[in-house]
Amino acid sequence: MEKVLIGPRRYVQGTGVLNNIGKYIAPLGKRVLVAWGPVVSEQFSAIVKKSFEENELVLIPFKFSGECDRGQIGKGVEKAKAEKAEVVVGLGGGKAIDLAKAVAMEIDAKLVTAPTIASNDAPTSAATVYYTEEGNFDGWAIWPRNPDLVLVDTQVIVEAPVRWLISGIGDGLATWFEAEAAYKGRRVTLAGGVTTQAALTLARLCYDTLMDYGIDAVRDCAEHVVTPAVDRVIEANTLLSGIGFESAGLAAAHAVGNGLTGFEECKPYSHGEKVAFGVATQLCLDEDIEPDERLAVFDFMVEVGLPVTLEELGLGDISPEALKSFAETLCEPEQITHNHVFTVTPLDMYGAMVAADKLGRSCKALAE
Ligand SMILES: [Zn+2]
Repeated sequence: MEKVLIGPRRYVQGTGVLNNIGKYIAPLGKRVLVAWGPVVSEQFSAIVKKSFEENELVLIPFKFSGECDRGQIGKGVEKAKAEKAEVVVGLGGGKAIDLAKAVAMEIDAKLVTAPTIASNDAPTSAATVYYTEEGNFDGWAIWPRNPDLVLVDTQVIVEAPVRWLISGIGDGLATWFEAEAAYKGRRVTLAGGVTTQAALTLARLCYDTLMDYGIDAVRDCAEHVVTPAVDRVIEANTLLSGIGFESAGLAAAHAVGNGLTGFEECKPYSHGEKVAFGVATQLCLDEDIEPDERLAVFDFMVEVGLPVTLEELGLGDISPEALKSFAETLCEPEQITHNHVFTVTPLDMYGAMVAADKLGRSCKALAE
């Protein structure tokens, strides 16, 4: 099986880069559809307009509902076609970005992602996660190309609530463990081949960066300042985690994280917060994980404020029967759970979730 690595064509990260968004987009095309949710369009339209004017770009604003569902994507495609957009920009969180990817691919336009939060690794990847109008996980698409430009303004990111950076740490923390799992089994990644040394190394760098700088970054981001720790963690959450999950592989942590979107109780929680419990579960599922490392990761998650118990995701009262039936769905044949080199049965998965919850509770109690 051949090795495949994919990634964005250009990655730009720095303080204030959004003020120059027009300069970065100009080489890609003139007519630019910007997909943003209601809050982001309010917050950033003046900056974007000014920079577009300075660079003689035509702004085609597309305000979507905030949900990346197939209906919203269809509306974006219609508008982009009618206005002859040459470039599609997703400005905002993961949903604006995923929607922009789908629209750009549908009309064969250039694609730009400009995250305003570092809550997940969507900006660099070629994947769109679909949700239903109600916000339930509804599958994903892997597009034939990654963004032409990823524009990450670190000042914008620290001005957002720190919860989003923490969520991105949860998503990024999964990357190495899943990459290692998929690599061991020589599984085919979302990039369409087996893992390169490069992607595996970036996945590891993602993990080391988060463990070394995550706690400092969360503290600094809560004060809304960009420090070297914040800068490194933003890169880990966005670029390293993005290349890692896409070109190095996924496993049980994301199966759990994505699966949790099916629970009404989990609706208020972000992708990264749900994936964090997936990391906790995977660490209790894989016997190759050293107990010391498992404990270090649990303690880290508790310290930065990521959920390590079912209660923290609104599932404190879930019955053993409901958890067992959830474990069964996570072990259906098409699930990424089976990227592990060992067989994962529903009973293994149930046991790992119970063990993770229990260990999470004891780590939390010790931290108090
Ligand atoms: Zn993720």
